[in-house]
Amino acid sequence: MERLDEGIAWFAGARGGPGPRVGISFGVHGNERAPIDAGERLLAELEQGALQVRAGGLLVLLANPRASAADRRWSEGGVDLNRCFHRDVLARAPRLYEEERAGRIAQVLEERGVEVLVDFHCTVEPGERFAMHHPAAADEAHVRATALLEAEVVLADPDLHFGAVSLDEWMATRGRVGVCYETGWIGDPRTTPEAVHAEMVNVLRGYGVLAGEPRLHSEKRRIQLYRALPCAAEGFRWSDGVGENLQEVAGGTVLGRYGDGREERLERDATLVFPKKRPELVQVGKPLVYLARRA
Ligand SMILES: [Zn+2]
Repeated sequence: MERLDEGIAWFAGARGGPGPRVGISFGVHGNERAPIDAGERLLAELEQGALQVRAGGLLVLLANPRASAADRRWSEGGVDLNRCFHRDVLARAPRLYEEERAGRIAQVLEERGVEVLVDFHCTVEPGERFAMHHPAAADEAHVRATALLEAEVVLADPDLHFGAVSLDEWMATRGRVGVCYETGWIGDPRTTPEAVHAEMVNVLRGYGVLAGEPRLHSEKRRIQLYRALPCAAEGFRWSDGVGENLQEVAGGTVLGRYGDGREERLERDATLVFPKKRPELVQVGKPLVYLARRA
């Protein structure tokens, strides 16, 4: 094992020679306990030899150690690490801890030639498990990666509506495989460190990094983001029963009404992605919700 930096470890395959170079990351958001506990258990098992890398290489990455130690989404006085991987942020002199950390992570990923990275998260709002990636839904390398995850829903963002700011986007916009995996709601009893750990091991088996047969979850609802729906006026209120993440809504449905009584009506069948449900998150001119359709 090589310790490359705080929270960053590299394990080379016992057989030596070529093989897939895979990264498992967690703790980009320091309050997402299940993935962090799962990742730390994975790291300990690799260090103690209970798990052994067979071929290629494995990067284990506790992405934001400072935030994780404080059990906060980002470090005190810091920013969201998953907004710091934009080209412009990486190009300028870092001012904050997360900006510096993003630069260091990008450097390690380059140096080690990591080809596939699955970044493990969990959600703070109730909702189902899902995976996200930048390339189109049919992209073969990403179909292969997501088949190793239990999530039923996979969201692709080929037009980069999310802005190329995150760790998985850093990978995918450089021709590698990058998947952001939301392993489920933090309050869901199924979102345990054990469950997330099993998913990490399954990914590594799938690429031959660890021994064992992977389980394949090939049946997915693959959807693709096609537009952001901006908030047009003040005082927006969602219609009853509308506005859950990944909710499938029929064309013609009234999503909600603005303060002046105007309706926001869905033009065609769509899946709602990241609806701004809390009034304090709704801003005129900013996305009210992103819309996706079946790929
Ligand atoms: Zn997260």
